[in-house]
Amino acid sequence: MTPELMEAGAEALTRHAEADVQKDSSGGSASFGRLVHGLTPDFSTGVALYVDDITVSFDGFKALNNLNLMIKVGELRCIIGPNGAGKTTMMDCITGKTRPDSGTVSFGQNVDLLRLRENEIAEIGIGRKFQKPTVFEQLSVFENLELALKADRSPRASLWHRLSGAQLDRIGEVMTLIHLGQQAQRQAGLLSHGQKQWLEIGMLLMQDPKLLLLDEPVAGMTDEETERTAELFLSLEGQHSLVVVEHDMHFVDQLTEGKKTVTVLHEGSVLAEGLLSDVQANERVVEVYLGR
Ligand code: ADP
Ligand code: MG
Repeated sequence: MTPELMEAGAEALTRHAEADVQKDSSGGSASFGRLVHGLTPDFSTGVALYVDDITVSFDGFKALNNLNLMIKVGELRCIIGPNGAGKTTMMDCITGKTRPDSGTVSFGQNVDLLRLRENEIAEIGIGRKFQKPTVFEQLSVFENLELALKADRSPRASLWHRLSGAQLDRIGEVMTLIHLGQQAQRQAGLLSHGQKQWLEIGMLLMQDPKLLLLDEPVAGMTDEETERTAELFLSLEGQHSLVVVEHDMHFVDQLTEGKKTVTVLHEGSVLAEGLLSDVQANERVVEVYLGR
């Protein structure tokens, strides 16, 4: 969740406590490509994200150690690796939560993410899903999505002012996509764990991110929910770039469809990269990770 969304959520909860949350859909909308410091990311070479040689130390311990990663526009990349490998720290560096000691992180060809604040990084088109679902439990599914749409206060929002019909359509579209089309008025707190995860993904989608970072999205989900989540991510591939950190190998297998690259992180660096079947057969990977 972005700082803006947290703030908007707190406001909405206050209003909710006093009266019903207003149902009008005027106000802002989010859309990828908003200008942050006059920057428009340049994706003309087909690269969405470059992580170039980043190192992060915590009291001398290197959580990331010259890490390199390149994600193409529309690519779905799975990242695996044992606990402590640095997967979450990597996402922290991309989203501005942690600043690396050295190296660069860029979005497209031209946007230096290390110069932007967390909220600016979200605004320029990078959405992040944390491990635990963070939805507004007292609000309905619809209200959560509405809030995610309104959290954006960029000048562009005014362009959308009269497009409440389009916004409603978009909310409906996203609800269908996240399998919550029948649950619009249901209080988010009453959803299953898996449904809450989907709702949060839906909230990210309302902001139309170019790149989505998903940290262990199926942890705690039932097999059926996991299966549906894989279908959801596969349907987002192409329109968005997705970086998925996950331990569930069956899920990773489903996502990669036997043809996509998997990255294995270990001790803050890339240990191996290739097809899941290849990295699973890689001796060093077996040693540090799969062999346990
Ligand atoms: P992963 O997500 O792959 O399990 P993390 O990125 O969470 O790994 O952590 C990588 C390493 O960095 C771990 O050894 C962890 O204990 C350490 N670490 C992460 N964040 C901090 C922090 N804020 N302070 C100190 N050590 C940290
Ligand atoms: Mg982690």
